[in-house]
Amino acid sequence: MDDLTASATAPALALKMRDIAFAYARTQPPVIALAQLDVRAGERLFLRGASGSGKSTLLGLIAGILSPQAGTIEVLGEHPQQMSASKRDGFRAERLGVIFQIFNLLPYLPVGANVTLPCRFSAARAKAADAAGGIDTEAKRLLSRLGLEADSVWSKRSTDLSVGQQQRVAAARALIGRPGLILADEPTSALDANSRDAFIQLLTEECDAAGAALIFVSHDAALASHFDRGLDLADINTAMETA
Ligand code: ADP
Ligand code: MG
Repeated sequence: MDDLTASATAPALALKMRDIAFAYARTQPPVIALAQLDVRAGERLFLRGASGSGKSTLLGLIAGILSPQAGTIEVLGEHPQQMSASKRDGFRAERLGVIFQIFNLLPYLPVGANVTLPCRFSAARAKAADAAGGIDTEAKRLLSRLGLEADSVWSKRSTDLSVGQQQRVAAARALIGRPGLILADEPTSALDANSRDAFIQLLTEECDAAGAALIFVSHDAALASHFDRGLDLADINTAMETA
């Protein structure tokens, strides 16, 4: 930790999960059984897991989109499980940047509106982006950093972009306005090896610049070298042992 930049009130952990049990329905087998998972503030964690091992489910639990049947989840020092649904939605909009595996963007909105969307749902993120030079300027800076021609894609509908370009737009949207935690669900699946490495490099640099922790999940173990720490989901999730 850098003591000069860490505020006195900033929690040391971006994520603290304890004794989590989750199944999609009472009649279905558990998908997640996790004794403990901690992620430090600003840490970049790589979580590898085979297809179907529960990666997206775990991110859904962290994002507060899914609720565990047992256990506690502390995110950036807060307890989303204890919040009302609308407060939890507000917390997610304000403090988390989420890059989903699919259905990332609002298809009929132009790229610029997609990237700046978090600033419309969160005054804090609008303020942070504004302080970085203006909301649109910061959005264009992020798009450029992630390898897109910001001015040429700005007014395009996201459906007119390639999947790889859409994933970059989704990353810019997750990063805008200094969220404390970025959740990235296989965001490089549509990129070739070269642009994949470059994308991860830029994503981790931008997370560092924003002081955000990053949880990046993928089935591809080759990506682990880009991160501070790598974990295999199969080693911490005991739900799938008998599956
Ligand atoms: P991964 O992201 O690692 O590929 P998932 O978290 O998507 O894995 O899925 C883990 C397990 O949960 C799989 O067996 C999958 O079939 C099941 N699953 C995922 N989503 C649902 C859902 N909405 N309803 C029921 N089962 C689901
Ligand atoms: Mg998945």
